[in-house]
Amino acid sequence: MPWYRQLHWQIIIGLILGIGYGILAAGSGWGGFTSDWIAPFGTIFLNGLKLIAIPLVLGSLVTGVASLSDLKKLSRIGGKTMAIYISTTVIAVTLGLVTVNIIKPGRSVPEAMRAELQQAYAGDAAARELAAETTKQRGPLQILVDIVPDNVFAASSDNAKMLQVVFLALLMGIGLMQLPSAGAKPLLDVFRSLNDVVIKLVDVIMLMAPVGVFALIADTITTVAGDSLTELFRLLGALGLYMLTVIIGLAIHMTVTYGTLLRTLSPLGFRRFYRGIAPAQLVAFSTSSSGATLPVTMERCEEELGVSEEISSFVLPLGATINMDGTALYQAVAAVFIAQTIGLGLGIGAQITIVITAVLASIGTAAVPGVGIIMLVIILEAVGVPAAGIALILGVDRILDMLRTTTNITGDATVAVIVAASEGQLREVTADPTKDAVRIRV
Ligand code: ASP
Repeated sequence: MPWYRQLHWQIIIGLILGIGYGILAAGSGWGGFTSDWIAPFGTIFLNGLKLIAIPLVLGSLVTGVASLSDLKKLSRIGGKTMAIYISTTVIAVTLGLVTVNIIKPGRSVPEAMRAELQQAYAGDAAARELAAETTKQRGPLQILVDIVPDNVFAASSDNAKMLQVVFLALLMGIGLMQLPSAGAKPLLDVFRSLNDVVIKLVDVIMLMAPVGVFALIADTITTVAGDSLTELFRLLGALGLYMLTVIIGLAIHMTVTYGTLLRTLSPLGFRRFYRGIAPAQLVAFSTSSSGATLPVTMERCEEELGVSEEISSFVLPLGATINMDGTALYQAVAAVFIAQTIGLGLGIGAQITIVITAVLASIGTAAVPGVGIIMLVIILEAVGVPAAGIALILGVDRILDMLRTTTNITGDATVAVIVAASEGQLREVTADPTKDAVRIRV
């Protein structure tokens, strides 16, 4: 098959054309046209992915858990997954801190620009502070309470409640495991079939990915630029070093941390992994939502990387909601950058506080666009940096959101691969030259 008919190349072409059109549209003042006539295609693509996220998690996790022979195995996989998730996030935050302390991007923001930014984004910053306040007022154990739904339909009617769906599916799977097989079979067949259908639907929805990605990127650029490209470039100039610091940190984490993990703990090569996961990364980049990308991440891990359904259906939905390495790394850089910009020194104690709060905050960050910066407010307050400082970075946050979301889902997929390898559940996958997709050889 020629390269241009392969899905990931088509998405890349959509992305490049979207960037080109977005810049042209922002420069020509076509923001209104773009949001009326282009953006809806992005929303349709996004809605398609969100639509199948809950049935996919329910279908695959219920069958995955029910097929486990005993609960001991479930707790072993769970424990291992959580331990790797938390360790990689701690590494990510540390990496962010090291990078920002070496590069010191906060020193490069001109005084006049600082005042201007704080004034321009004061209103937006206040809205985020308010949102963070609501989160903060909840008790320390509320996060656990939130995992347990009190109503099946309410839990499955809101994509933001993915952890509740995971919990529900785990319970159903455990229940089915306890039943004699004749009693469990009818319901299990329903979930199995639901899962198979939804996995097929991912392929169908992904046919729209090139157009969807084009529209999402074009709309993001015109929205961020707000019909004035010059303004956007000025902002990028002033905050360029800060953005570069985040980008360097994310790049090191994606290559060195994940690369080392993959090389040492799985038989999958670095290039093989990235080739398999690329379409999911591109979708994460253009949607800025790990939650919306989840169906694609699951499909790629199962069908392209050979992760068993049992592992992927447990590790990936959990990861999409609680494992956010990219977000945590960004939060560490942003917190120190804001402190540097306003001339506030952060000692070693404060930096350790950042590690702890950023790990916790990334767990509590919802898998949707722009939540990372709300949780950043909590980190800033923990280290005594004025939360209004987020006004400094709000203008470029969407761009960094795209990059950190890409890292977030790459981290989830890496962990799925290594957990699968450790359980002997990583199957060899061979490329089918007649098809775009590669199929699992069982
Ligand atoms: N957009 C990110 C995600 O969905 C969360 C964030 O950092 O805002 O993974």
